[in-house]
Parts: sequence; structure tokens; C-alpha cells
Amino acid sequence: MEIWQQTFAQKIGQVKPGDKWTLKEDYNLQSNDLDPGWKQFLQHHAFARFQCSQCWHSWHSAQVHILFHMHLDRKQRRGRVRVRLFRQECKRCLVPQLEPPEFSQEDVEKVLDNLMLKIRGKCYREPINPNDLSKIVVEDQTTGPHESARCEACRLGICYLKNEAQEPANTFFRPASLFPPIIPAHQEGSEEETGSSCDWWRCCFFTCCLVILLAVIIFVLVYFLTR
Ligand SMILES: [Zn+2]
Ligand SMILES: [Zn+2]
Repeated sequence: MEIWQQTFAQKIGQVKPGDKWTLKEDYNLQSNDLDPGWKQFLQHHAFARFQCSQCWHSWHSAQVHILFHMHLDRKQRRGRVRVRLFRQECKRCLVPQLEPPEFSQEDVEKVLDNLMLKIRGKCYREPINPNDLSKIVVEDQTTGPHESARCEACRLGICYLKNEAQEPANTFFRPASLFPPIIPAHQEGSEEETGSSCDWWRCCFFTCCLVILLAVIIFVLVYFLTR
């Protein structure tokens, strides 16, 4: 959390040098459950690394969700930000724990640059061009679908909420757990897990074969029964 607080202090100091802002982590933050005067910003598709605290297996995900609630007291010139970093579970452990994401300095900066724009727009009512919100571009090659069952945000339905930072792309949003990525994985959120994409296709192939076989059996039965 320190990296977030330091970078936030540095950025808000440049944007609003006269006002005092603080950022705190809050694991109980709920989407769209806002106290009066508070504003929300939901960042999807952030890129982070996770490590299991039980078996030390590590993985990357490009579908990490971050929820921010922010409030400005205009008279006191004090602002507060609460942040919740959604966690993911290890897929190798039978009884996994939710593990917190670990971000690089570069990715923290990208997310906080978007937050600065949101603070200026929502708290200071400055005109903001939504196109200025940066897309979190993932440079690492990641393959395989996003495992919604192991994602804390997916369980809470956060994945399906409006993605403010990537509005045009979100029009075509589909749950990655149900469909394999069509566009290169580094453009859309996915998890790096060798072989998982291959497994998906194998599973899909067998399901298709089974459906065709069933259709043939039903057809033959109907054909002979109606003669
Ligand atoms: Zn594990
Ligand atoms: Zn998710």
C-alpha cells in the first residue's frame, strides 16, 4: 500500500498543491455503496502479479479490478480516497486464500493518472475529456482466460459493471471465462497459465463432438420411430 500512498501524494501534490489529500486501503469498500458526497471510480483491466501464500505459485493477471471512493471537503480543502484492490485465489491449492495483487511502479502510476482525472472531474467539476483516461496496456504476453471463479471482484459482480476507463472497448465486453480471447491476449485481460488455453479448446472440441453425436442418435431414433 505504501507505493500507492507515496505515488498518490506525489501526483495529487502536482495537480492540487493547495489541498490536502489522503489515500487509505479499505477492504470493506462496496461498489455503488457511497456515503453522501462521495464519488466512485472503478478501474478494470489493471495488470498485476499474484503469489500464493501457501504453495508459492505465482501468476499474472490483466483483469485486476480496483475500486476507489473519493470525497472532497471544499471548505477545509481536504480530500480523502479509499481504495480496494480486489484479490485472486491460487488455482493449485485445494483450500486457497485470497491473495492481494502486487503492482509495478509503472502500473500504479497509470492507474493513479486515471484517478487524478476522475478527481478533477468528479470532485472539482473540471471539464475532463474521457479519451484522456489511459488504457492500461499490458506488455507481457499472457494467455488463457480470466478465471472468474477465483477472482474476488467477479464474485461480487464488479467485472460486469461499467468500465469508466475503457468505455468504447467495454461495449463489447464479454465474460472472459466463457469465451477464449479472440484478440491477442495482451490487449485484453487474461491470466498467464501455460496450457490453460489449450485445455479450453480441448474441452470445447469434446463438447461439440458430444452434441453432434446426440443429435445423430436423436435423428436416427425419430426416423425409425416415425416409420
Ligand atoms: Zn497455492
Ligand atoms: Zn474478475
